[in-house]
Amino acid sequence: MNCYIYWDEKTKEGVIIDPGAYEDFEKEEILNYIKSNGIDIKLILLTHGHIDHIMGNKWAIETFGVPVLMHKDDLPLIDRAMDQAAMFGVQFPKPPAPDKFIDENDVIEVSGNKFKIIHTPGHSPGSVCFVDEKEKMIFGGDTVFRGSIGRTDLWMGDIDVLLSSIHNKIFKYADDFVIYPGHMEETTIGEEKNTNPFLQ
Ligand SMILES: [Zn+2]
Repeated sequence: MNCYIYWDEKTKEGVIIDPGAYEDFEKEEILNYIKSNGIDIKLILLTHGHIDHIMGNKWAIETFGVPVLMHKDDLPLIDRAMDQAAMFGVQFPKPPAPDKFIDENDVIEVSGNKFKIIHTPGHSPGSVCFVDEKEKMIFGGDTVFRGSIGRTDLWMGDIDVLLSSIHNKIFKYADDFVIYPGHMEETTIGEEKNTNPFLQ
């Protein structure tokens, strides 16, 4: 999965989006990037509560000592993270409870840069996207991928809800907004509107 570090080059303040680090080398890579750029991490943001996105939560919280924000509807996924782990045959430390819940239309500000929250359920009930409207960036989690969409066969997944989230919330942004998804490479609203076989 993709872990993102979003930061301001002037103030050096930033956030971690989905610290899904599992292996030690993954944690080192994240840490090295943050250290070598002198970034001061202020928050940890979760697009949703699936284990591949939260495996590194405990490590990230202990390393950076900052609050974790997520949507409340995915709290059951955090509470039952160990069941998710057993289901997928992996082991990792139990992620601590989030410090604060975020919801539709909330705005998170980091060094004057603003993330608007859009609630985009379907892949999971508490999936959200973080939108920087000024820089035209959308951190989309597992909603829409390049040429694909998030799976809906997991707990509380719903294909109709997911398609509605994509068409009515994500696709309301202009074609030149870049989507940074939870898996695979980045794409744009325009490209997915025009070529994604699941969204025609
Ligand atoms: Zn997921």
